[in-house]
Amino acid sequence: MTHPADQNVPHMDLADFRRHGHQIIDWIADYLEGVQDRPVNSIVQPGEIAGMLPSSMPENGESFESILSDLDRVIMPGLTHWQSPNWFAYFPANASPTSILADVVSSGLGVQGMLWATSPACTEVETRVLDWLADFLGLGDRFLSTGTGGGVIQDTASSAAVCTMLAARDRATSGTQQGLSGHAPSLRAYTSNQAHSSIEKAAGIIGIGRDNLRLIEVDDQYAMCPAALRAAIEEDLAAGHQPFYVSATIGTTASGAFDPLPEILEICRAYGLWFHVDAAMFGTAACCEEFRWIQAGCQEADSYTMNPHKWMLVNFDCNCLWVADRAALIESLSILPEYLRNQATNSGAVIDYRDWQIPLGRRFRSLKLWFVLRQYGVIGIQNMVREHAALTRDLVTWIEEDECFEILAPAPVTLVCFAHRDGDERTQAILDAANASGKVSLSHARLKDRLVIRFSIGQWRTQRSHVESAWKLIQSFSDA
Ligand SMILES: *Cc1c(COP(=O)(O)O)cnc(C)c1O
Repeated sequence: MTHPADQNVPHMDLADFRRHGHQIIDWIADYLEGVQDRPVNSIVQPGEIAGMLPSSMPENGESFESILSDLDRVIMPGLTHWQSPNWFAYFPANASPTSILADVVSSGLGVQGMLWATSPACTEVETRVLDWLADFLGLGDRFLSTGTGGGVIQDTASSAAVCTMLAARDRATSGTQQGLSGHAPSLRAYTSNQAHSSIEKAAGIIGIGRDNLRLIEVDDQYAMCPAALRAAIEEDLAAGHQPFYVSATIGTTASGAFDPLPEILEICRAYGLWFHVDAAMFGTAACCEEFRWIQAGCQEADSYTMNPHKWMLVNFDCNCLWVADRAALIESLSILPEYLRNQATNSGAVIDYRDWQIPLGRRFRSLKLWFVLRQYGVIGIQNMVREHAALTRDLVTWIEEDECFEILAPAPVTLVCFAHRDGDERTQAILDAANASGKVSLSHARLKDRLVIRFSIGQWRTQRSHVESAWKLIQSFSDA
């Protein structure tokens, strides 16, 4: 069944595809086998990788072998190894082997699932798997596709913020067709001053202006103060503005703080505001009974989002967004040019996910979520969360036992923020030395105007020995 290579167009024939495919999987397996011995952070200088690339594309096609060999020569030196078990920076971006293979299948099928009709399985797997996940995370019935809600895969939590804020904007004004034109009062959105920057970006994108997002102050645990939220809303109403949207965070990016959802929910209800919950990283923890408390109240929100592409073993990109009222989202995002009309859409019996997102086209991303949820199962994912949480408790104990350091935020799940007691300069020196050693990757945050080292546990291959070595390394620099 192989196609003869065209004389003029050098398509890869299927025999070569098969051979190179095996080569590529072997190459990836070798990479994952050895990644823990590589320096975690790339140390190349700006322009160094570009300097190894020719300034124009090749005139005649090159052999696949020569491309493959340049992966090692050109690409590898310029990589920071997110799949290293010594990865403790930012949050994880777990690419489990299962998800890698599922993504290969998705690429191999090459389907475009913009409409139900353009590949029914692409839509129906997504709907079902997001219902599974809503159940697994305890999101409650309102977000299920069997009622008025439903879930959709977006590229990132940033897109989820834009889509929900847009739907909320249209609900609060005269709607999609008019948008903000002729709308007199300023629309006001609210989130805590610890919220992710994507909320601010969304405010700019949907046209209300970034200054109309108010950053609400937090308590000493970095969680939003409901009283301050209420006061800001009252102040805005008195000034003639129009409050419309609140985003609360389950696990802030800097320190992993949990906003008090029940109190915020009550305020949203009292003023009729759209309530969005951003659980990008720590939503995954809610699959375990003992961590359910972190999002108590999210079941009554208008929208909820989390990223399987962070902790939940699905390679980037895969964000899940659930809405309680899908009609509101679709109202803002649907568009139906003549060339997309089809019987299934007209019948109203199917979901067309292009109406739930910004782009038209979409690939078969639910495949990798489906593979991962099946291969790990409920128990497998819970076990991973529990292992990482246990490692975090160990790390907290070790830090507490060392009088040179102090922990500056609660660390109930898998993120520990700590600093040297001597102050920022000392903390910075330790962080720089640790990152320059090649043995770990750590990042930082500022909390109450102090520099802290963020030690985020959650890389899928991280074991106790990796956390222990990383901590000893940090201690060795503090003794220096
Ligand atoms: C990581 C993160 C985001 C942004 O995630 P993307 O999917 O990259 O847009 C948003 N909110 C929180 C709380 C995060 O931790």
